[in-house]
Parts: sequence; C-alpha cells; structure tokens
Amino acid sequence: DRFKHDAPVLVIGLGRFGAATAGQLDRLGRDVLAVDDSAALVQKWSERVTHAVQADATSIEALRQIGAQEFSIAVCAVGSSVEASVLIAANLVDLGIPQIWAKAISKSHGTILERIGVNHVVYPEAEAGERLAHLVSGRLLDFIEFDDDFALVKMIPPKPIRGLNLTESGLRRKYNVTVVGVKSPGRPFTYATEKTVVTDQDLIIVSGTESDIERFASLEF
Ligand code: ADP
Repeated sequence: DRFKHDAPVLVIGLGRFGAATAGQLDRLGRDVLAVDDSAALVQKWSERVTHAVQADATSIEALRQIGAQEFSIAVCAVGSSVEASVLIAANLVDLGIPQIWAKAISKSHGTILERIGVNHVVYPEAEAGERLAHLVSGRLLDFIEFDDDFALVKMIPPKPIRGLNLTESGLRRKYNVTVVGVKSPGRPFTYATEKTVVTDQDLIIVSGTESDIERFASLEF
C-alpha cells in the first residue's frame, strides 16, 4: 500500500548507502530492521536503529528466521557485490515483499534487478554524479529532478528577468518555466505572484522540464 507511511522497513546491508538509509528512516521515526552479515557493522549500528541483526541475506532461510516475510517494504542496499545483490533481491521477491527498493551500481545490474521483480531501482553514484555536474556548472544552486522529467531548481535569477515582475518577464510563454518562490536576503521565502519583482540579490525556485530549465539557466547571468 503506497499510502501507508508508517510501515516498518527492512534494510539489507549496512555499508555507506544502507547505513545512511537506515539512519535517516530512524530519524524519520520509522521502525527499521537492519541486516548485515558483518557482526561488527551490526554492533556499530545496533544503538542507532530500532533493530539490527546479523544474517546472510543471500539465504532465504536466514531471512525467514528474522521474519523478513512480515515486511511490506524492503531495501537491498548491497551493491558492490552484484551477485549477492541479485540473490538477496530474488529472496525478497520470493518472500512476497510488495515494495522492494534496490541500489544498482551499473545499468546492467539495474536491468537484472528489474527483471527479478524489484519495484524501484536506484543508481546512487550515477545520480550523485549527474547532480554534481549541474552544481559544478555553477548556475543551479540546488535541484530535484522527478521521474517524469519535471524538475525544481534553486538559482540566481538570470539577467533578462531581473527588475521585472513575473508577468512582464513572460517566463512561461518564453521559456516554459514557472517561478514558484523567491528568497530575498534577510527575508523569509515567499511564494511568487505575478507582481513579484526579482533582483540580482534574490534566489528563485523554478519548476519546469529539465530541458526547459536548462535553456532558461543558460541565459546571461
Ligand atoms: P556501500 O557502497 O553503500 O558502502 P556496499 O555494497 O559496499 O555498500 O556494502 C554492502 C554491505 O552489505 C556491507 O556492509 C556488507 O557487509 C553487507 N552485505 C554483503 N553481503 C551481504 C549478505 N549476503 N547479507 C547481508 N549483508 C551483506
């Protein structure tokens, strides 16, 4: 049930990715069962997440013993060993867990995970690299990209829209993007209206498709 926001989460693998996932879920108040085959890692994380247990998740019997089949959400955070990741994902599918997330280290790894029946495959390194490229290019200060080619970005207003209100700058018509909010120095974030005038001191939040936003962000600054 995708609307069930309090279901406990099974996290397999307490490497950098899995530990970050489990830790954040715990901070969000979610019950987490974290599993790793390293006793040392389980020991290290046992105080920070609700439950941490040592088990080899490539064994479906070991997973059954810890009650993995009771979970409706599982995350396979084992990446560096593709073989282990694939075996674990297959076990999670066989246990009938309806929502399975898994990290992949390559496109082919991700393709295999999808074929096995993993619902959500994430590519943390590829995604972080693409994200970094946007940030390094200097114009976008922050951004979130959604699956369906829709993005929200934080940026400095390009020159052609400064000193004008949002109706005058005709952003939707000319660039097919929308200014959602504005942050002026020392003032709280506010939602943009048609009368909002942006200056070079402001930061703006813009929504649109990735390509429209990129075109908008390539204007003179
Ligand atoms: P990261 O790159 O995020 O650090 P890794 O893929 O290197 O992730 O870490 C994987 C984690 O999963 C390690 O802590 C490892 O001990 C654990 N792990 C690997 N194989 C299994 C397994 N069969 N069962 C449980 N945990 C495993």
